[in-house]
Amino acid sequence: MVLALLLTGLAGCTGATPPPPAAPDPLLTPEAWQPADLVAGTRCAGAPTPEPVDVLVRVQLLVGPTVDEPGVLRELQTAIRFWGERGVRLVPAGPARHVATHALLSGPLDADRDEEARLDRALAPVRDFVDTHARPPRGRIVVAVLPTILTNGSWAADVFQDMVGLAFASPETSATPADEAARALARHLDLERPHDPVVLLSRDDLVRQPPWAPPLALAHELGHALGLEHEADRDNLMRARQGRCLPDLTDAQLAQVAAAARALAR
Ligand SMILES: [Zn+2]
Repeated sequence: MVLALLLTGLAGCTGATPPPPAAPDPLLTPEAWQPADLVAGTRCAGAPTPEPVDVLVRVQLLVGPTVDEPGVLRELQTAIRFWGERGVRLVPAGPARHVATHALLSGPLDADRDEEARLDRALAPVRDFVDTHARPPRGRIVVAVLPTILTNGSWAADVFQDMVGLAFASPETSATPADEAARALARHLDLERPHDPVVLLSRDDLVRQPPWAPPLALAHELGHALGLEHEADRDNLMRARQGRCLPDLTDAQLAQVAAAARALAR
């Protein structure tokens, strides 16, 4: 009886060898959460030098289909380095997750005469995305790197040309939007209901950034997610367009971010 069992066991070993494990996605490994050197690292001449703070920000990374470009990794690692040097430590809230979303704003604006209803329908995919991935809030920032946020020829491409990223702060991380346009957008996106801050990045546009530009799109969008608005100063991280030198933040901005990060973690 013992011999029969042993033979059976041996027979089992002669079956087909199991397939080798799939190569890990670089975005999914813990090594991805290491800071990288800032490339093209000339500091802007007028950049402020803020006093570092000490806060932790948890980030949930979502990765869209076909997004595996080294440029995305570079963005992530540069953001970790940029914020880490200023005392805002970005850590993974959990393993990165794959999502099936290709683009969020891809359709034409339909012909409904009621403008509110038209915008409401056009923004529905973004609203659903926030609903699916950032609710209920869990005290982290949701960063989604998708193939694109908006597709060529869509109404959104006309409105938000060359948009690399988009971010929504949460009630914890920002005050009520000051202007009516921002309030209307928040209404259409149903952002008054509790949700985690969301950053959307377009991989297609990230890899098209000019080679001289420091890879700071994600660092910039995380600033928005933590409540910062745009700044006119071209030596500031929150300038609206990518520049050639490494910008920084003021003490006041960093203090605002630290307060937002603490409120988010509560
Ligand atoms: Zn911005």
